[in-house]
Amino acid sequence: MNVLVINSGSSSIKYQLINMETEASLCSGLVERIGEPVGKLTHKTHPDTDAEKKIALNEAFADHVAGMKRVVDLITDSTDGVIKDKSEIYAIGHRVLLGGEKITKSIKIDEWAKDVIREYFPLGPLHNPANLAGIEVAEELFPGVPSVGVFDTEFHQTMPQKAFLYPLPYSMYEDLQVRRYGFHGTSHRYVTKQAAKFLGKPVDELNIITCHLGNGCSMCAIKNGKCVDTTMGLTPLEGLMMGTRCGDIDPAIVPFVMEKTGISAAEMDTVMNKQSGLKGICGMNDMRDIHAARLEGNEKAQLAFDMMSYRIKKYVGAFMAVVGEVDAVVFTAGIGENDEHMRAAVCQDMEHLGLFIDLEENNTRRGVARSISKGGKVDILIIPTNEELEIAQATVEVLKG
Ligand code: ADP
Repeated sequence: MNVLVINSGSSSIKYQLINMETEASLCSGLVERIGEPVGKLTHKTHPDTDAEKKIALNEAFADHVAGMKRVVDLITDSTDGVIKDKSEIYAIGHRVLLGGEKITKSIKIDEWAKDVIREYFPLGPLHNPANLAGIEVAEELFPGVPSVGVFDTEFHQTMPQKAFLYPLPYSMYEDLQVRRYGFHGTSHRYVTKQAAKFLGKPVDELNIITCHLGNGCSMCAIKNGKCVDTTMGLTPLEGLMMGTRCGDIDPAIVPFVMEKTGISAAEMDTVMNKQSGLKGICGMNDMRDIHAARLEGNEKAQLAFDMMSYRIKKYVGAFMAVVGEVDAVVFTAGIGENDEHMRAAVCQDMEHLGLFIDLEENNTRRGVARSISKGGKVDILIIPTNEELEIAQATVEVLKG
C-alpha cells in the first residue's frame, strides 16, 4: 500500500511516495518556481539508499497541476518509475498548516474541510491557500483517491487555556480567534512516539521537551504524551530565534519601529519574518555558514549562535518547570540532529537540572535515534524527524477508522 504525501507551497510542491508496509520512501522530490518562466524539478527514486537515483529538470510549470502532472510522469515512468500507474496509490496525505479550533485531528478531505481551510486563510496567508491548492490538484489528477489533511496545529490542541490564551482582551480570542495554535505538530508528534519507543515507555506516560531546530524552530512541552505548551503562537513567528524569524520580542517594538521609520505593517511583518533571527544578527541563516564564520573569528556569527542557543536553553528551563519530572530533552530537525555545537551549548551547565551531556557521543554522527547523555535524571536524545512518514501514517489511520 503506497501513500503519496504532498506539501504544497505557494510556488512549490514537496512530495514523497511511501510504501506503508516497509515504511520506505519510494521516491521524493520538489517542484519549485511554479508559474515562473523556468521552473525546477528535483526528483529522487529510493532516496538515501544504495539504489538512489536523482533526476533534475529545468522546465516551465504553468501551475501546480502542471507541476504535479510531471511528477506523476516520473513516478510512473516505464524505466525510472517506482509504480506502474496511479492506481497503485492508495491515498494522498496533505500537510496543512492551520485547522484552527474547528479541525483538531487529521481528517478525510471533503467540502466542509476545504471550507475550514479557506476560513483560516487570514491566519495562515502564506500556507493555507497553497495547501488547499495542493488538495485541489490531487482531486483533479487522482480522481477517486481519498485525500487526508494532516494539520500542523493538531498536536497542540491539548494545550490548556492558560497556555494557549494571550493576556489580551478576551474579545480578541472570541471575535478574531487570536490565540496560540503552535506549529511543527507532525514533527513533535513523530519524535514523541519515537522517544517513547526508544525509552521503552508507553507514550501516555512520557514527559519530554522536544526541540525542533531547523530553519524554523519550535519547542514543545509534553506531559503524559500530550502537548501542554509550545513556543510558536498565533503564527510561526513567536518563540525561539530562527533562521530569518525573530521569535519572541517585546510587542511594543513593532509600533515603535513603525512610527520611527514609517514602514507599513506588511513591511514590518517582512522584517520580522525574513530579515531577522540569525540573518538579522550576522547576515547568514545557514548554521553551517555561521559555524565556518565564527571559527574564522566573525564576532557577529558568534553572537548569533550564542543568542540562539541561549534562547533555546531558556525555554528548556521554562518547560522543565511546566512539565515537572522530565524523562528527556529531544533534539530534532536540521540543526537539532546535525549540530553538535548547538546541542552542547544548550545542555552546558545544566547539571543542576539533571542534564549531563556526553560530549564525545554528542560529537559523533549516526543518523539514528540515540542518547547523548552520560547519566543524570533527564536523558538527552537525538531523534531524526520524519514528517512525511508521520503524515502518511496519519492518513492510513484516518481512512481505516
Ligand atoms: P527546514 O525548516 O527548512 O525543514 P531543516 O530541518 O532542513 O530546515 O534545517 C535546516 C537547518 O539545519 C539549516 O540552518 C542548516 O544549516 C542546518 N544544518 C543542516 N546540517 C547541518 C550540520 N551538519 N551542522 C549544522 N547545521 C546543519
